[in-house]
Amino acid sequence: SVPAAIASSLSAGARHGLLIKGGVIIEKLAGIRTVALDKTGTLTEGRPEVTDVIALTGSEDALLAMAAAVEAHSNHPLAKAIVARAAAVPAAAMRDATAVRAVPGKGMEGRVGTAALFIGAPRFAAERANLDAVSETIARLENDGKTTVVVTVDGAVAGVIALRDQPRPGAAAGIAALKELGVGAVMLTGDNARTGAAIGQMLGLEARADMLPADKADVIKAMAAEGPVAMVGDGINDAPALASAQVGIAMGSGTDVALEAADAALLTNDVAGIAKLIGLARATMANIR
Ligand code: ADP
Ligand code: MG
Repeated sequence: SVPAAIASSLSAGARHGLLIKGGVIIEKLAGIRTVALDKTGTLTEGRPEVTDVIALTGSEDALLAMAAAVEAHSNHPLAKAIVARAAAVPAAAMRDATAVRAVPGKGMEGRVGTAALFIGAPRFAAERANLDAVSETIARLENDGKTTVVVTVDGAVAGVIALRDQPRPGAAAGIAALKELGVGAVMLTGDNARTGAAIGQMLGLEARADMLPADKADVIKAMAAEGPVAMVGDGINDAPALASAQVGIAMGSGTDVALEAADAALLTNDVAGIAKLIGLARATMANIR
């Protein structure tokens, strides 16, 4: 019977760490033509590490100390990585920040002493300071797949910090498995175009970069109007995009908000689980029809 076929697919999925919230989702999954994936925390581990510290004026320690003073107020993965790296800075050099404010999808602002600090994406740092002195360095680091953040102090660039977030093991294979099913894959990221393209090339998919959190939901709505699309994400920021897709899929390690907004979840954080979900759904529907 149909209910029995669906029940057995739901439990087959569960045995492989694929959570599907009901039979209707199976029918939708079977029709998916394109999958959009968030980069950070979905295609990558979401645990960036600082690789380069380039100070233009003072010492590397002084730059890290200022950056960490502001980032201590953020729980963004980039912020945590910068704070962790600053743990090696002598305590006497460490600073405190005041008037700290997050600029979502862009960076952080705050005051250290009397100085006004911004730390964040180069294209937004460029609204506050002339980046000519560091633009070639930034391009080189980003073409290498690193994310760069720029520190500006009182309208002048103070330095650049580069971070690397490793692709998840099996992410490239998971994208290849989608292609074998004839399903398109596209990466959405708030990161810059060069870093996005470099990681997209490693994993074998197109990247749409420079996206603000709200842009992702708009892009998914436009894609969903063209044909059945699934969105895969892990963060609080991803919930609107997950809800805008025909099928929202959450990474199991993600936030509760993403899990709640999703129709399905990959409990083992394996990108290959997406193709397994679609394959299982297609087989189930073929059985029923
Ligand atoms: P993603 O799409 O990768 O999850 P976000 O939307 O969280 O990215 O952030 C986009 C960009 O904004 C980051 O690549 C970074 O340049 C900048 N950014 C956001 N938050 C911070 C922060 N706390 N510190 C520094 N840069 C930040
Ligand atoms: Mg994210």
